[in-house]
Amino acid sequence: MFETLKEQPADKILMLMQAFKEDPRDNKIDLGVGVYKDASGNTPIMHAVKSAEKQLWEAETTKAYTGLAGDPAFGNAMVALVLGDSVPRANVAAAATPGGTGAVRQGFDMLLAANPDVRVFVSNPTWPNHLSILKHMGIETVPYRYFDDETRGVDFDGMMADLAQAKKGDAVLLHGCCHNPTGANLNMAQWKEVVALLLKTGATPMIDIAYQGFGDGLDEDAAATRLVASSVPECLIAASCSKNFGIYRERTGLLMAVSQDASAQKLNQGTLNYLNRQNFSFPPDHGARLVTMVLTDDTLRADWMAELEAVRKSMLDLREQLASELQRLSGSDRFSFIAQHRGMFSRLGTTPELVEKLRADHGIYMVGDSRLNIAGLNKTTVPILAKAIIDVGI
Ligand code: PMP
Repeated sequence: MFETLKEQPADKILMLMQAFKEDPRDNKIDLGVGVYKDASGNTPIMHAVKSAEKQLWEAETTKAYTGLAGDPAFGNAMVALVLGDSVPRANVAAAATPGGTGAVRQGFDMLLAANPDVRVFVSNPTWPNHLSILKHMGIETVPYRYFDDETRGVDFDGMMADLAQAKKGDAVLLHGCCHNPTGANLNMAQWKEVVALLLKTGATPMIDIAYQGFGDGLDEDAAATRLVASSVPECLIAASCSKNFGIYRERTGLLMAVSQDASAQKLNQGTLNYLNRQNFSFPPDHGARLVTMVLTDDTLRADWMAELEAVRKSMLDLREQLASELQRLSGSDRFSFIAQHRGMFSRLGTTPELVEKLRADHGIYMVGDSRLNIAGLNKTTVPILAKAIIDVGI
């Protein structure tokens, strides 16, 4: 029967990784896949995570199942990290998931369970996996304007005009911080306008927050999510621990459903548990346990926060360095957006042809939509990239 299967399109980013591996040039630079890398190109295990892992190895006495929503201590620690005290804990249903992707997937499933005709409004562009998961699930997507090709910032007027078309029963997918793939983000005044519009239309927000701590700081990056959660009648929040704890392969994430009262919370929690049960039963625990240990132990937490802050600052420094190098070489401010963008990515806003030229002529790999991973750079490669960008005529 499998002969009836259709060939699936290859993942562009994974293809790019393969092409990079096979490129024999010594001076090649990988700005493709969305993984943090330090100055020597490694994706390190964070100290606090390694320490927690050692302690866990000594202390763990069972590998028996946790619960359908995962270990409640993980839920508590992550709800506190993401939502702070913006909403009462009793109003939040939470379930651990395999990574942030699992949280996104379970969130879409929850939307579908609530409304089989749900339409999901998605930023143009958005993380390609959002679109492919929605398509796979047969959920209608409605793109809203987001990236302004001229300014390389947010086309806020376009975004608001498009979101005004959403209705009650629709969902609006928003990136909590560090927008992927563009790096362009709303300011808090704009978030307030988005909240007012959501209240007016009655559409339900779903926030994907995968880079808390990579932009302006842990609390700063969660501010928009907290504002939304404390202002609207209900929302979903999909959080990933992959980046800010550096535990990509452990598959650690949390889906939260925030409501106004405890009775809705109970229904939401039951639904999250049920959906986990149908899709994979118990969520993975190892990464979640490490995160819980790091967040609840003062010493580990301080160590983690300091390392995360160093990671964040190193990316900001690279942004500043790249923007100023490009200003020097181009004699213009047209690349200043790179220093304003936040998170791991910036979209250069150029054509696939010039992205391909960067690869062919300079061995510089980035995604075809001109998304570059800032963390793939270091102090030595920034001037090389800047020169190549000018050389190919971006
Ligand atoms: N959402 C966005 C926008 C992302 O960029 C990512 C990571 N690439 C995720 C969710 C989830 O990542 P993971 O499943 O690895 O936690």
